[in-house]
Formats: sequence, C-alpha cells, structure tokens
Amino acid sequence: MTIFDHREFAGHERVVYCSDEPTGLRAIIAIHDRILGPAVGGCRLYPYPTEDAALADVLRLSKGMTYKNALAGLPFGGGKSVIIADPGAKTPALLRAFAEAVDRLQGEYWTGEDVNIGTADVEIMAQHTRYMMGRASGAVHSGDPSPFTAAGCFAGMQAALQQVFGTDKLDGRRVAIQGLGNVGYCLARLVADAGGKLVVSDVRSDHCDRAKREFGALIVAPDAIFDESCDVFAPCALGGLLDQDVVKRLRARIVCGAANNQLATPGIGHQLLERGITYAPDYVVNAGGMLNASGDFFGKYDVDEVWRRVRAIRGTTARVLETASREHRPPHEIADAMAQAVINERRLQITQARAAD
Ligand code: NAD
Repeated sequence: MTIFDHREFAGHERVVYCSDEPTGLRAIIAIHDRILGPAVGGCRLYPYPTEDAALADVLRLSKGMTYKNALAGLPFGGGKSVIIADPGAKTPALLRAFAEAVDRLQGEYWTGEDVNIGTADVEIMAQHTRYMMGRASGAVHSGDPSPFTAAGCFAGMQAALQQVFGTDKLDGRRVAIQGLGNVGYCLARLVADAGGKLVVSDVRSDHCDRAKREFGALIVAPDAIFDESCDVFAPCALGGLLDQDVVKRLRARIVCGAANNQLATPGIGHQLLERGITYAPDYVVNAGGMLNASGDFFGKYDVDEVWRRVRAIRGTTARVLETASREHRPPHEIADAMAQAVINERRLQITQARAAD
C-alpha cells in the first residue's frame, strides 16, 4: 500500500519520515493542513509494534489537530509526530536528532509534549529548534499544559451534564476516569472538588493509590472501568479504546475525557448515539493544553486570556451537543463539520485574495 492510498491519509499535505542511524531515531512527522497557519501538534514517543501502526496513529492524530486548532479558534493548522521507540530508549541524543528534523522544516511544523514526551524532554529539544511549544523556561514559557487540558475537559463535562441532566452540577455524580497521568489526575481533582464521586483505573498502582489517598477514589482493575455504572466516563489514557465491544459494555450516560482519538472508527460514534450515550468529542474538550501552549508561539503569554479561552470550551461543547441532539446525529460528525467550515471559510478568503491580486 502506498501512503496516498492509506486508510488514514485524509489528504495530508506532507508526511516526513526521519531517521538518524547513530541515535536510532525513527520518526514520522505528519502535516495535515496549513490553511489556518503552521501545523501544530505534539510529539508522541511509543513502541509501536509496526511501522503501519505508527503511521496510522500519526495520520489520525494530525488530522485531529487540524480540527482541534480550528474549533479552538487558533491560527494553526494540524500536524503531529511520532517517535517509534521504547520509553526506556529515550535519550538526549535521540531527542536532539528529532528536534533537528523538526528544525529542518523551518517552522512548517511546531511540536511539544504528548504521551511519553514531558516538559523536560521539550526543554532538551528546545536547545536544538525554536519550533517548540509548552516550554518550561525561557523568556516566554507556558509550562505544563496538563492542568489546562483538564480544566477544558471539565468545562466540556459541565456542558454535557447540562445537556443530558438539565444541570451542570457534579455534586453526587459518579465519574469514572481511565488513566491518572498528567491530565487524568488534574481532572480527578476538579471532579472531587466539585463534589463528584470517583471510580478510577490505571495500569500504574502508584497513580491509583494517590487518587485513593487524595480524593477517596474507588479503584478498579484497568479492564473493569468500562463496566462501571456512572454518569460520566472520562478516558484519559490512550486513544482507540472505544470499539464495538467496549461500547456494548459501557454503563455511562456521557463520555467526556482528554484522550485523543477515542473512537476506534468513526462508526463507533453512531453506536454510542444508538446506545443513548452522549459523546463530547475528544478534540473539542481537550484543547485547553494547546490554548495554553500557543503563548510560546506568539511570544506573549497572558494567563488570564488562556483561562478565558479554556472556559469557552464549555460553550463550544454545548453548541456541538445541542446541534447533534437537534439533528439526531453523532456529535463527532457535528464537530468535524464545524471545524471544516472554519477551514473552508479561510480557504475561500485566500482564494478570493489571490483572485483580487
Ligand atoms: P500520561 O502519560 O501522563 O497519562 C496516561 C495515564 O494513563 C498514565 O498514568 C498511564 O499509566 C495510564 N494508562 C495507560 N494505559 C492504561 C490503561 N489501559 N488503563 C488505565 N490507565 C492506563 O498522559 P497525559 O498527558 O495525561 O495524557 C492523557 C491523554 O490525553 C493522552 O491520550 C494524550 O494524548 C491526551 N492529551 C493530553 C494533553 C495534555 O495536555 N497532556 C492534551 C491533549 C490530549
């Protein structure tokens, strides 16, 4: 199969394969669309079992970034990168080699943290390219995006609760969180502070123990979280978890979490609708971190403005869910159409400006 025929190709502008023999770097940078601005999206390091698994992941993630940035009102296109490696093989030399590959794109693509790439790694890469976001130091630095991602996810959750129950109150609601890493932990705190009851899972027992200790969360085995009766199921681990079998098992009224690409296939969105489960699309509710990191791009960081825009995720989620309910269509299709409309409008402006020249 060629890349152009790949099932996830989706009209990508550019797909760059990067390798560096001395460090063992094998990475793919995918640039989906730059109509709204330079392609922006984090870098994921993961031991993909096959090259195709890495390619499929990066293509889906970068298209998601195009839509995320468009709906968040950011002047960015969509891109993403993956480094094919075991987290244990992550060395400063490997990160340097990757950063140099990013630098060679001369700003067509900006990157930052994602799964297995943290703020310390971003700092290492920033020594070799200026096209980094989510910096922890420097003249302008936005720092860890995770609390902002969690806050946006919480705002989206409130919109979904309002839509489903007619009230946004978390008090007494049962929220099941899968994954208690950077985002899931912050989200658990927000839910607990608002009076929600937590049931949680993580493959790391130390993460579970912390949630039990700090928030009184009930811990269940990783595979058992799908069977928990709850008001909200919040996936905050890896993507692709919602497949046919999992959706059959869910006993939640709402799915609203931070993980990217939660639907294994677009058809799963229809299955959720048929089951009466309201799905708050992942890239709509998890844009908070990107909103925060954008300050590094603009060279100006205004935390009040970031919080205003993170809170606005509630309104965007509400618009998506209300339209979906009115039209009896899956919310992910509505969100895609809304994002595509933003891109189409910009494309039209560019075409008209060119014609006028
Ligand atoms: P993280 O790596 O810090 O946390 C992920 C957590 O999930 C870890 O604690 C891990 O042990 C756990 N986990 C892995 N597999 C699991 C399983 N099968 N069951 C239960 N737990 C499991 O990552 P993060 O930064 O918190 O991001 C979480 C998700 O949100 C990712 O999909 C990421 O792409 C997405 N996201 C993150 C941000 C951000 O600001 N960090 C922004 C947008 C989207």
